[in-house]
Amino acid sequence: MVGLEQGLNTRNLTGKTMIPVRCFSCGKVVSNYWDEYKKRVNDGEDGAAVLDDLGITRYCCRRMILSHVELVDVLSPYQ
Ligand SMILES: [Zn+2]
Repeated sequence: MVGLEQGLNTRNLTGKTMIPVRCFSCGKVVSNYWDEYKKRVNDGEDGAAVLDDLGITRYCCRRMILSHVELVDVLSPYQ
């Protein structure tokens, strides 16, 4: 129950958008890497190099971060 809620929840306690907490396939916690990944990629670093540096090596976990789009702020007025 808790795991399911964590996986589907897209907001953290401050109400800001958030990546799913765990990788859907293997269960590794990936949400704690999102802020650093976003910051470093926005600063011009290569995404693959950042993921390697963060220790996210499995491709199931890499797709969680690579494919994440922050849409909750866009959609929230319509909820
Ligand atoms: Zn994974």
